[in-house]
Amino acid sequence: MAPVMETRPTRIALWVCVVVLVYLRRLGVECCSISPPTVVCSGGGRGCDIFNNQGLWEDRTPCRAAASVFPTTEAELVAAVAQAVKKKKKVNVVSGLAHSHTRLVCVGEGGFIISTRDYASTPLVNPTAKTITVEAGVIIRDLLNVAAKAGLAFPTSTSWDGVSAAGSVSTGAHGSGLVGKGSAINEYVVAMRLVIPAPASEGYAKVIELTEKDEDLKAARFALGTLGAISKITFALQPMFKRSVSLSLEDDAGLEDRLERFLRGYAFSNVYWYVGHGKAFMGKIDRAPVNRPGNGVNNAYQPTTVFNVEKSASNYEAIQATEDSKKLCNTTGTSMNNRVSRGGGFLNDGTRFTGYPVVGFNHLMVASGSCEDYHQKHDNQSSCTASQIIDKNQSICAWDRRARGRLTFDLEIRVPLSRAREAILDLKKIRALNPESLCALEGSGIVMRTIKKSEGAYLGPAEDVVTFEIVYHRSRLAYVPTWDMDVYQEIEQMLIEKHGGSLHWGKSGGHLFQGLAQKSTVNLQQFLTVKKRFDPDGLFSNEWTDGLLGIGGHKVEVLKNGCALEKLCKCREDIHCAPQAGYLCRPGRVWKNARVCRKGN
Ligand SMILES: Cc1cc2nc3c(=O)[nH]c(=O)nc-3n(C[C@H](O)[C@H](O)[C@H](O)COP(=O)(O)OP(=O)(O)OC[C@H]3O[C@@H](n4cnc5c(N)ncnc54)[C@H](O)[C@@H]3O)c2cc1C
Repeated sequence: MAPVMETRPTRIALWVCVVVLVYLRRLGVECCSISPPTVVCSGGGRGCDIFNNQGLWEDRTPCRAAASVFPTTEAELVAAVAQAVKKKKKVNVVSGLAHSHTRLVCVGEGGFIISTRDYASTPLVNPTAKTITVEAGVIIRDLLNVAAKAGLAFPTSTSWDGVSAAGSVSTGAHGSGLVGKGSAINEYVVAMRLVIPAPASEGYAKVIELTEKDEDLKAARFALGTLGAISKITFALQPMFKRSVSLSLEDDAGLEDRLERFLRGYAFSNVYWYVGHGKAFMGKIDRAPVNRPGNGVNNAYQPTTVFNVEKSASNYEAIQATEDSKKLCNTTGTSMNNRVSRGGGFLNDGTRFTGYPVVGFNHLMVASGSCEDYHQKHDNQSSCTASQIIDKNQSICAWDRRARGRLTFDLEIRVPLSRAREAILDLKKIRALNPESLCALEGSGIVMRTIKKSEGAYLGPAEDVVTFEIVYHRSRLAYVPTWDMDVYQEIEQMLIEKHGGSLHWGKSGGHLFQGLAQKSTVNLQQFLTVKKRFDPDGLFSNEWTDGLLGIGGHKVEVLKNGCALEKLCKCREDIHCAPQAGYLCRPGRVWKNARVCRKGN
């Protein structure tokens, strides 16, 4: 069957949804709340828009394609790539839900976008080899569950389980841990089927199969979508085990001296640092044998409602507008204290939190989700469309772009573990100047998880690293400065420039990505050599990925008026900030090489 082009899939999906809804309505019970579509095409050759989960790409420009393809079989995937290669068009693959923030998948007005929304049939377990083979669009939840049914465990995951197998390996997504192969999902890839461009004599596209015997697998395991279209991935599994979780809230005095020992002391430990309050939420997360009693589950990512998302955003925006740091710190302090006493999202028996440790099977503890496809009792069928929200009580993921939620920058800065001590001490120096300014980083706290030095991927980290993930407010309107932005800009620049930090490739970072591939990866040159061989015309690349990888002189920094407000540049002059609003380009207060947009001095 030929790939379906342009608008048909979206229309079919909407019709199927309507039919299902009418049926459910007749039953009088349920109403489906599904995530909005990633690829939306208009008829009449007007092309397609590609959306990520925030509905906003990091640089705020639209992400476009001329046409979309929704393959369901490998033959259709090959045909889609061949079609693009034959026409010498840019081409890329996006998952069904698209949760990366940067423009990795943007092919431009003339390009083809391939969606793996419908490329996700049931994973296949090989119990003898202890492996699982999945199609590219399979989400991590399905991988975890199918492996578990066979008595096997996939030991790591993103914290939210709705990301796709191919999307997560392509950006080096991870959990936390330094034991064995570590926490990066791509390190568990033992084989891959990849569709790459081919000469006309071979039909313009071909499938290659890479196994651990092929050095090229080190490029394919983590490739930012730039080598070709991943068709299938085989991951290594382990015998089932349980996780034991104990969380405690501790004073952060001496955190710099304790952190590395703590993170190395448990198989999957993590820390959420409430830096404004001087507290650290320490997660002792370890392996436990399957016969250890406990039926715990991780329930952290609960579906929420449109009403809740919008209320929380407007509350936050009101605090921003009044710059009421006391109120902000009170709010984050309350949620911090509730977090430990309520189990941090872990439930001992699947329904209640009764105390630590929470022990449960790996697949139920390693990640959580389900908001992306949630069924709840509701009687208003008109609320259930994939593109529009009519009913404020509709259940959604907290980050659903259809709700008027908070916009944020989300930077995961990875500092070599060996340099974390100095980084923490410097952050404490910044805090000493104005502790309340850091309450804005306490939505979850600074998320500190570990990723092991990569053995299996050229683009993987060259050392063991710990993340400093900071999430903070972003203005709904472009080129509008935000409260205390100088503090967060200084922290980012300091962690990257002074402490050797790098960034998560699928999260925010803007100009800070400049040159990081050269500095922080295992072997960029080897990766580029394979890339040149697999995709000599760079059809799977765009200006953003070329900028990230330093190809053809492309850069990710853009200098123009107001650029530092949008993270497009590090300011050099006042016009890169907002002089009309009093925000001028100033050196950092602790890291003097930082250049930040600050109001006043
Ligand atoms: C709520 C939430 C929680 C998160 N938690 C974590 C976490 O715990 N840890 C973490 O590391 N990250 C986390 N992330 C970030 C997320 O893991 C990454 O952004 C991931 O890349 C998203 O995967 P996706 O399936 O949405 O892929 P997309 O965003 O669709 O694509 C990402 C990349 O994969 C490529 N790609 C996708 N499919 C294919 C294919 N078939 N062939 C070739 N290339 C392909 C794309 O071209 C692109 O380069 C989280 C994000 C959200 C929204």
